Amino acid sequence: MKVVLFDIDGTLILTGGAGNRAFAKTFADVFGVPQISSNVSFAGRSDKAISHDLFRAHGIPETPENWATFQREYLVRLGPTLASLAGEVLPGVVELVEKLQALDGVDIGLLTGNIRAGAEQKLTHYGLWQYFEFGGFGDRQTERAEIAREAVAAARERWSAKSQANGGPDRIVVIGDTEHDIRCARAVGAYAVAAPTGHTPSEVLAKENPDLLVNTLEDHAAILEYLAA
Ligand SMILES: [Mg+2]
Repeated sequence: MKVVLFDIDGTLILTGGAGNRAFAKTFADVFGVPQISSNVSFAGRSDKAISHDLFRAHGIPETPENWATFQREYLVRLGPTLASLAGEVLPGVVELVEKLQALDGVDIGLLTGNIRAGAEQKLTHYGLWQYFEFGGFGDRQTERAEIAREAVAAARERWSAKSQANGGPDRIVVIGDTEHDIRCARAVGAYAVAAPTGHTPSEVLAKENPDLLVNTLEDHAAILEYLAA
């Protein structure tokens, strides 16, 4: 059994910055922050980590209540923001996901810093949510490696439910667009496939030594061959 875990932003879709925009709107409307700090980076990080950095940057107490309020209000704003911006499903994504789905012994899931309901809104908007039945999300964890552990645990649970055997998948592949995706793959002993389809250049990804670096997910042959190896 092999498991392929996909990052969302910059890997499956580009939203035109909807997540960032909905974060900014939530901080403005709910926490009275007219402009969120540009020192807080978004790419490849979890919603919880980003939001806690912003709380700190703007002197907002990092309480469970504020995190809960943020999530609720962000989700209200994310849908309209997605609808107002031009985004896209990245080239090759639908074909790759459908090819993987058709393979025996390959399970596909998500490994994303998005909170689960945010991931659902984004992927529903772009017609991709139905392909993914499990994953690791950014609701509880700030560190991406922890999210990867969550995704692998979910994959294991599915595997043992299906096969009634212990143990786990014999190969886990993480597909992502940032150095963070590559590092979190390493943290859980997974293979890393990287594509510079978000905002991270190929050279930066190459420095992290992914197992496979493709230009876009249109490069199915390389990815499928790699999975079969
Ligand atoms: Mg990404």
